[in-house]
Amino acid sequence: MCGIVGYTGPKEAYPIVITGLKRLEYRGYDSTGVALLNDGLKVYKKKGRVADLEEAIIGKDLHAHTGIGHTRWATHGEPSDTNAHPHTSASGKLAMIHNGIIENYAQLKKELTKKGYVFTSETDTEVLLNFIEDIKENNQCDLEEAVRVALKRVTGAYVILLLDAEHPDTIIAARKGSPLVIGVGKGEHFLGSDASPMLEYTKEVVYVNDYELAIVRPNELILKNLGNEKITPFVTKLDMELAEIEKGGYDHFMLKEIFEQPSTIHDCLRGRLDATAGTITMSGIESNMEHFKNANRIIMVACGTSWHAALLAEYIIEELCRIPVEVEYASEFRYRNPIINKGDIIVAISQSGETADTLVAIERAKEHGAIIFGIVNVVGSSIARISNGGAYTHAGPEIGVASTKAFTGQLAVLTMMALKIAKEKGTISEERYSNLLFELEAVPEKVSAILKNAEALKTIALKYQGASDALFLGRGYNFPIALEGALKLKEISYIHAEGYPAAEMKHGPIALVDDKLPVVFIATKDSYHEKIVSNIQEIKARKGKVIAIITEGDDIIPGMADDVFFVPVADEIIAPMLSTIPMQLLSYYTGIAKGVDVDKPRNLAKSVTVE
Ligand code: GLU
Repeated sequence: MCGIVGYTGPKEAYPIVITGLKRLEYRGYDSTGVALLNDGLKVYKKKGRVADLEEAIIGKDLHAHTGIGHTRWATHGEPSDTNAHPHTSASGKLAMIHNGIIENYAQLKKELTKKGYVFTSETDTEVLLNFIEDIKENNQCDLEEAVRVALKRVTGAYVILLLDAEHPDTIIAARKGSPLVIGVGKGEHFLGSDASPMLEYTKEVVYVNDYELAIVRPNELILKNLGNEKITPFVTKLDMELAEIEKGGYDHFMLKEIFEQPSTIHDCLRGRLDATAGTITMSGIESNMEHFKNANRIIMVACGTSWHAALLAEYIIEELCRIPVEVEYASEFRYRNPIINKGDIIVAISQSGETADTLVAIERAKEHGAIIFGIVNVVGSSIARISNGGAYTHAGPEIGVASTKAFTGQLAVLTMMALKIAKEKGTISEERYSNLLFELEAVPEKVSAILKNAEALKTIALKYQGASDALFLGRGYNFPIALEGALKLKEISYIHAEGYPAAEMKHGPIALVDDKLPVVFIATKDSYHEKIVSNIQEIKARKGKVIAIITEGDDIIPGMADDVFFVPVADEIIAPMLSTIPMQLLSYYTGIAKGVDVDKPRNLAKSVTVE
């Protein structure tokens, strides 16, 4: 996974490429490089962030009208100057950047080594590049043809961009399994892993599909399949503004995204939910309603935070729709020969819509005839395109690595989906349906109210920032939020944290409790409230430090807990969307107090497009 940028046209390529790379750093950031084409190839690359490269090449010859750039998230070979992209071919004439993994690179490397090729890096990318060059020279063909022949032998996932010193205004690009967008300007073209590098220049974009190859020149965009047949590029108009992906006055993208939630949840509900009319309009569900109504089972497939959204959906869908739900880690599901029967529906959840494991998992399920329903944030992403139906979360670009607004968007979509199916199946009373619609409609306002008290969470975070471990406990609908709270804290504060169902704590984790351990209880008013009060007592009896997220008006827990944070009253099905907000803020402020770069925590990348 990584960010790639390309430009060819009358403008200077370097400033466009480097600015684009900064916007794409959320996709990977262990090394950076650019290749510029003007009187031969100039390649500059370096371990570290985009800013490190920028500084290192001040004063160098950066003049060019065609260029490509890469911010890497290493898969083959440690982050280093040598392993950084772009790579140059043995002849020095070709330069290439690559997003993804070439699975059969070892075999290809063996063949090329026998022919005398010597490799300077440990990457799979350099192997593919020389494989392409070898074909070009042996077959006496042009680069385009060599790429086509090579890719037929390659297994794995890739987006590649190639420059050829002999064709100074051309970029050859190809994709399978990783994202590639081409921006169409006037006499110029832009390439990117997403549209952010090109937003200020053009709103007209072409999403390249798997097994397609693009020949990109200032005045020409030719799209072909690997069989060398031309494909008419389908130009889409973007309605995204550049401001949407910039920090908007906040210190970090993560904080901006947390504070955006009243509007992102509103955007997600807008046009779909009408509580007064008692309707939910979701065309993706409507066109698949017969499948949902008759479903024997729903299998939710996801990773990370999206998996937590899936787990909450299991509780909600089983309660409201009476359809059995299973929640699967995509990385496990794809390899374990799961039983998929006719009448099963796979719901795939992914912020980026590019999560490699989720993508492959649904491809497998599709082969078994399952109906695929995708819930993704990135419009036009791979999962969106291979699903039979779906719903976008409409949370806007999420740049902070730790997911926040995309998660609440997923919860909003999944809750609407459950309500819609339940209504159609007749498994929910009119009264409960109507109440929940109004409850859902009120969420953005309640989230705003929580955000007004963010400072209180900062105080709590400062108090416990020195902890080496933390427990997060919740029951019922709040259990997935406990898992999510623990994940957030791990991700951006590096404090070891575990999430558990509160009652399960007695079967092991309680052994960790001492007078230093912070235990976060998500204990909003619900049908389990009395039970969780007992669990709090159990922790207090062992001198643990209790931080409780509770409902306004709760006058029992404040007398027991060390710290409390109030959230507005809400139905127990809706409350998790509220109680997850303090989890996000607690982690954010803890991460900041510990000096962590919360938008780019170590070892993580935003969209996990490798397995
Ligand atoms: N597999 C390539 C490498 O390790 C590309 C990884 C990426 O997508 O950044 O360099």
